[in-house]
Amino acid sequence: MLLTVIVPCYNEEEALHFFYREMEKVIGMMQDVEFELLFVNDGSRDKTLEQVKEMAERDKRVKYVSFSRNFGKEAAIYAGLQYAGGDMVCIMDADLQDPPSLLPEMYRVIVEEGYDSVATRRVSRKGEPPIRSFFARMFYRIINKISKTDIVDGARDYRLMTRAFVDALLELGEYNRFSKGLFGWVGFSTKWLEFENVERVAGETKWSFWKLFMYSIEGIVAFSTVPLSLASFGGVIMCGISALAIIFIIVRQILYGGSAYGWPSMVCIMIFLGGIQLLCVGILGSYLSRMYLEVKKRPIYICKETNTTKNEGN
Ligand code: UDP
Ligand code: MG
Repeated sequence: MLLTVIVPCYNEEEALHFFYREMEKVIGMMQDVEFELLFVNDGSRDKTLEQVKEMAERDKRVKYVSFSRNFGKEAAIYAGLQYAGGDMVCIMDADLQDPPSLLPEMYRVIVEEGYDSVATRRVSRKGEPPIRSFFARMFYRIINKISKTDIVDGARDYRLMTRAFVDALLELGEYNRFSKGLFGWVGFSTKWLEFENVERVAGETKWSFWKLFMYSIEGIVAFSTVPLSLASFGGVIMCGISALAIIFIIVRQILYGGSAYGWPSMVCIMIFLGGIQLLCVGILGSYLSRMYLEVKKRPIYICKETNTTKNEGN
């Protein structure tokens, strides 16, 4: 039984040796499993790659894939899945925010309880800026209302999967990737484990508020077309309101005459409608631009160097 642990790394030189040490403990606890540690260097600008290479020289279980530039965590996960050779595959952050100590339990659940994947979610967000937690909560509430795919609040990308699950994920070769949704989309049986939020061991988060915001838009556009129907819905309501207003004005003209007033309100209404139209065009545009990127069929990442090979069949 070979278990691949995919570790996306972007500027993680400070965290890597903590991660490796922690991982060794876990590997020691799981004697009946063979391990492969697959580091995906996502265009780091620090010594991450050198460190990984050093580890690979000392330890035959360490494999790496190194990108030509920063392609983002989603691309790193996809590359990891493509290069993973294991019968089971796990995705884990390099900063120990995904506690490796959960791995034996996750493994047990798959082997003994027959699940296809074990996912994790954090039940608290302590140590996180409150405003970020607030927006995160709101995002999950909105997306679960407007998308058929179940996207769990607080879900991490930390997950152990069987080969069948991984192969299904690899079939989804879309360019704009939102893994939390893709995991749900492929189906299979998933058990959720919960844990308390852990703070980063070293280094700092790579996600600015703006980056997270854009990522949430990615999630909504990738997993729901409700915003598109919102435009037509808004249109219908506006038509209804204006029809009533027209009737009101005609009746008023007949009864009292002198309807040549109300220019300021007219201007307000025009600006309002103009705004709504721009908003709807913008929504259309965000779907269209993603279609454009998808149609170009650019690769999701470019591998510059590696010490392993892609899986057969992918
Ligand atoms: N990461 C990556 N590429 C990126 C950003 C992040 O591979 O462009 C990796 C990063 O090295 C880490 C994981 O994704 O292993 C999670 O990143 P981070 O800890 O910064 O996110 P947070 O835990 O704050 O959500
Ligand atoms: Mg982190």
